[in-house]
Amino acid sequence: MEKNNRKKMPVLFIGHGSPMNLILKNQFTYSLSRLGEKLPRPRAILVISAHWLTPGTYVACMDKPKTIHDFYGFPEELFEMEYPCQGSPDDARLLIRSVKKTQIKCNNDWGLDHASWAILKHIYPGADIPVFEMSLDYSFNEWHPKTLRYHYDIASELAILRDKGVLIIGSGNIVHNLGIIDFRNIGAQTYDWAAEFDNMVKINLLNKDHGSLIDYQKMNGAALAVPTLDHYLPMIYVLALRDEDEQLKFTYEGFQYGSISMRSFQIG
Ligand code: ZN
Repeated sequence: MEKNNRKKMPVLFIGHGSPMNLILKNQFTYSLSRLGEKLPRPRAILVISAHWLTPGTYVACMDKPKTIHDFYGFPEELFEMEYPCQGSPDDARLLIRSVKKTQIKCNNDWGLDHASWAILKHIYPGADIPVFEMSLDYSFNEWHPKTLRYHYDIASELAILRDKGVLIIGSGNIVHNLGIIDFRNIGAQTYDWAAEFDNMVKINLLNKDHGSLIDYQKMNGAALAVPTLDHYLPMIYVLALRDEDEQLKFTYEGFQYGSISMRSFQIG
């Protein structure tokens, strides 16, 4: 018998980082495996992906999403890996009906980019739970207070999925600056500005100060930590789904390559 399907599902934010984590065994990948062992088993999984940027918002409606190898210059082994799960078209349509803030559209040719399958490979290695992705509307990709508020408002309308046994995962990175990275050194010393920004996000998360996280440009180091919105936005979706009385716990804290925060957390 499946446990806890009637209870509200937790929500996750996962800092996914480099696709290399697919084949590494480190504290980050162990933290993902532990999640799979400890979470109530979801009926389906929705991933809001930093790697699916579209004009307007789309949700993947296909029965069988393909594995997208959306990275370059990595070992051949990564390109041979697949994540052969089912999609969840009925949940995708429920999502479309639930969001009133904007008209979300069905998509039938995307699939699973590495923001979803590279982490799910560790969380649910059996690929036996249906997965569907949602894109980020990148029509206005420059920072504006209204931009993040718009995403926050869309996200709050996804709450019903939690009650229906869907595990919602925002997959991005709180600090994500690839411009200054040494790709040969995953254990590089963390930049001071990166650590400072990450720590301020942590404090605001613990204080439930969503306003400061939406208005993130006022935090020290923001321009370097969030040079583009794509990897920060999935966290905004997760925040909006937090009920007043819900606990937040960090499931992983740390950096890779000096400027990628792998900070991950669970709500509920
Ligand atoms: Zn990424």
